[in-house]
Amino acid sequence: MPASASQNPRVHALASVRRWFDAGATDTPDAIDEGDRLDLVRVVPFVAMHLACLGVFWVGISATAVAVAAVLYAVRMFAITAFYHRYFSHRTFRASRPVQFAFALIGASCVQRGPLWWAAQHRHHHANADSPEDLHSPGVHGFWRSHVGWFLTRRAFATDLSRVPDLARYPELRWLDRYDIAVPVALAVALYGLGALLQHVAPALGTSGMQLVVWGFFVSTIVLFHVTVTINSLAHRFGSRRFDTRDDSRNNALLALLTFGEGWHNNHHFFPGTARQGFRWWEIDLTWYGLKLLSSVGLVRDLKPVPAWVWARARH
Ligand SMILES: [Zn+2]
Ligand SMILES: [Zn+2]
Repeated sequence: MPASASQNPRVHALASVRRWFDAGATDTPDAIDEGDRLDLVRVVPFVAMHLACLGVFWVGISATAVAVAAVLYAVRMFAITAFYHRYFSHRTFRASRPVQFAFALIGASCVQRGPLWWAAQHRHHHANADSPEDLHSPGVHGFWRSHVGWFLTRRAFATDLSRVPDLARYPELRWLDRYDIAVPVALAVALYGLGALLQHVAPALGTSGMQLVVWGFFVSTIVLFHVTVTINSLAHRFGSRRFDTRDDSRNNALLALLTFGEGWHNNHHFFPGTARQGFRWWEIDLTWYGLKLLSSVGLVRDLKPVPAWVWARARH
């Protein structure tokens, strides 16, 4: 460890606290040298969000709260898979600037950082999958590091703009990326307002402001997060391999159901240039169906298909 880092832990901690609110806040130059250590100041809010889920024992449960949590899971999972992943990271279809922004906004509410950071990390993953450079390879780093540990390190914090020049030219996306706490806070406040309103105008529903915050924000977001990152930790380990890829990616039907199609991960690593990840008709890919729907009403266009040559390389 460089001498300056050991002498200035407080400087590091203060910089980390600032980055809760402003991801553009600069770090000391030596941060990268200790990049693989967990940044404890960033671990705190992550753990706190899990503990907040225990609030269900105080606020109770209602059908309304569970429905809100489920709808927010579905809408936000779609925003992550269709837009953060298939659109921003891989450019597999086209969308207008307002549609791009609308889904970037929904994606930003997932507490998975901003669209530029997500896409830059993901492009790095594809370029280095399951090599020592891959920050979340379970084969190299083990389950916990590939599931949650990797993004709590200093090395993973900054957005590598050199990987996303096509996205960085949009100031509205850069803003979402820099102030990545803004949209999640706005969602939590809106849920509190909705719950308080329903308590007042429809008391028979048995909900409240805090109940919708706990279920709609904390429970829904934490479940969404853990299911999303199974694609890093489990879909590179458990499942079948249709294509010989340089990495350990697998096709896993259960993960595909939970992640709306992302579990067909060996398909995806072999040919990431298509908007589709379930290549066979029976490989359920809810995101693909959703994109077909959006395409049919003109909200997105030019969905890139699976090219015919791909099948010549398939084992089954
Ligand atoms: Zn992968
Ligand atoms: Zn990908």
